[in-house]
Amino acid sequence: MTERVIYELGRPGRSACFLPDPDVPRAQLPAEWVRGDDLLLPEVSEVDLTRHYVRLSQLNYGVDLGFYPLGSCTMKYNPKVNEDACRLPGFANTHPYQPEETVQGNLQLMYELQTYLQALSGFAAVSLQPAAGAHGEFTGILIMRAYHLSRGDTKRTRVLIPDSAHGTNPASTTMSGFEMVQLKSDERGNVDLDDLRAHLDDRVVGMMLTNPNTLGLFDEHVQEIARLVHEAGGLMYGDGANFNAMMGIAKPAELGFDVMHFNLHKTFSTPHGGGGPGSGPVGVTEELAAFLPGPIVERIFDEELCECQEDEEHCAGCYYYALACPEESIGRLKAFYGNFGVMVRAYTYIRMLGAAGLREASENAVLNANYLQVRLKGTYPLSHDRVCMHEFVLEGRLPDAPGVRALDISKRLMDYGMHPPTNYFPLIVPEALMIEPTETESKETLDAFVDAMLRIAEEARTRPELLHEAPHKAPVGRMDEVRAARQPRLRWTPPQT
Ligand SMILES: *Cc1c(COP(=O)(O)O)cnc(C)c1O
Repeated sequence: MTERVIYELGRPGRSACFLPDPDVPRAQLPAEWVRGDDLLLPEVSEVDLTRHYVRLSQLNYGVDLGFYPLGSCTMKYNPKVNEDACRLPGFANTHPYQPEETVQGNLQLMYELQTYLQALSGFAAVSLQPAAGAHGEFTGILIMRAYHLSRGDTKRTRVLIPDSAHGTNPASTTMSGFEMVQLKSDERGNVDLDDLRAHLDDRVVGMMLTNPNTLGLFDEHVQEIARLVHEAGGLMYGDGANFNAMMGIAKPAELGFDVMHFNLHKTFSTPHGGGGPGSGPVGVTEELAAFLPGPIVERIFDEELCECQEDEEHCAGCYYYALACPEESIGRLKAFYGNFGVMVRAYTYIRMLGAAGLREASENAVLNANYLQVRLKGTYPLSHDRVCMHEFVLEGRLPDAPGVRALDISKRLMDYGMHPPTNYFPLIVPEALMIEPTETESKETLDAFVDAMLRIAEEARTRPELLHEAPHKAPVGRMDEVRAARQPRLRWTPPQT
C-alpha cells in the first residue's frame, strides 16, 4: 500500500467533478490490469481548484501585465487576434498525418509565410522547420557545412563569432562539430576589422554575425565584413533574432548574408518564454536553397485544374500546394511540419500589419529605444554612445553609489511593477543592463520606466539597502542564486504521512 499523499489544500473525499454512470457494460479486466490503490491526486472542491489556479496565474509576470524590456528577447505585446486565428477549428484540429489534399489551407498559409519572409529578407528560399532561433542556427551551420562538402572543400572547420554574440552562436557551432573562433569588437561596438582579417583563411566555414548586434548597434562595416569573408571562401550566417529593427528597411540578403534564421516568437509577435514552443525559420540564397531542411511547401500550377484559361502568372485559383524536400537537403530537423500554431500567429500578424505596418513597427521600435537611451544616459553610463537600433546597453553601476550592481537595480525595478532588463549580457559590457522597449509601448509607459530608473538611481545613493534587499513586493524575495543553481528544487513535493 502506497503511503497517502496529503496535498495541503485537499481533504479526503472532496471532489471537483461528477462522473456520469457508465452507459456501456463494464468490461472484465484481467486482475493484473486493475488498479489496486487510488491514484495519488489532490482531493479538492471546484472552488478550491479554481482559486488555486487563479492564484498561481497572479504570481506570474507577463507582457499582458506590464512593461517587459528584456533586451534581445523582443517581448512585444502579442495581439489577441493571433490567438483567435490559430484556434480556428480548421487549423487547430488538423492532424499531421492527414493527406495533403485535405490540408490545402494549412499548406497555403505555410507557403505564403515562406514568401513573406523571403520578401522581407531578400532570400531566395525559406524553410519553416526549425523550432527556435538556436535550432535555426544549428540548421544554418549544417547548411554551410553541406555547401562546402558539396564542393569537395573539406578543410574548413572554424566559425568566426564576435565577442558580443548570443551564447547560442558558439553553442550551435560546437554542436555541429566545428570550432568557434572569437572575434573582438572595436571601440564603436563594430566587429574589429583587423581581428577579422587576422583570422580569415581557408579553414573558415563562415562567420556568424548578429546585425544589429546585441549592443543594439548596426555594424557600420557589415558589407565590408561580408566581402572579406566571401573572399576567403566562407559564408555569412545572420543571427536574425534582432530582425525587429529592420523589417521593411533593410534586407539581410542585400547586406551580404547567405543564410539567416528568423525568430517568429520574437519579431513576429508570438508568445514566448518558459521554453516554447517557438519557430525559427531559415532563409538562404539561391546558391544554398538545395540544402534546406524539408519539407518545404511548393505551389504547383495545374493546367488541368485551370478553368479560367489564364496563364500561370495571372491565374488565381488553379494551384495546389504540396510538401517537397530539396535535392541535397541536410535532412529533417523536426517532426512533421514544424510548430504550425506559431506559424499561424506570425502569418496573422504579418497580414494584419501589411508591408507598411511592419516597417512602421521597426521604425517605432528603434525610436522607442533611442528615446529611452537619450533620457537615461545622463544618469547611467551608456556602453556605446551612438544612435542605437531597437535596443541599447547601459552599465548598471553608478559613479556615486559604488556598492550597487546591475542585479540590485533590476530587482528594485520589480518593486515598481516592471520586468527587469536583461542582466550581465552582452558579456563585453560590465554590469550590463540591456534594454529593449519594443514598438508596442506608449510614451506614457516609457516615461514611467524612465521615472522608475531615475528614482532607483536616487535610492542607490541615499538608501542602497533598499536595492540590495529588493524585491520587496514580489511573491518571492531575493534568491540565493548560488544555491538555486547548485541545489535546484524544481517541483513541489508533498509531505508524506
Ligand atoms: C533569442 C536569441 C537567440 C536564440 O533564439 P531562441 O529562439 O531563444 O533559441 C539567438 N541570438 C540572439 C541575438 C537572440 O536574442
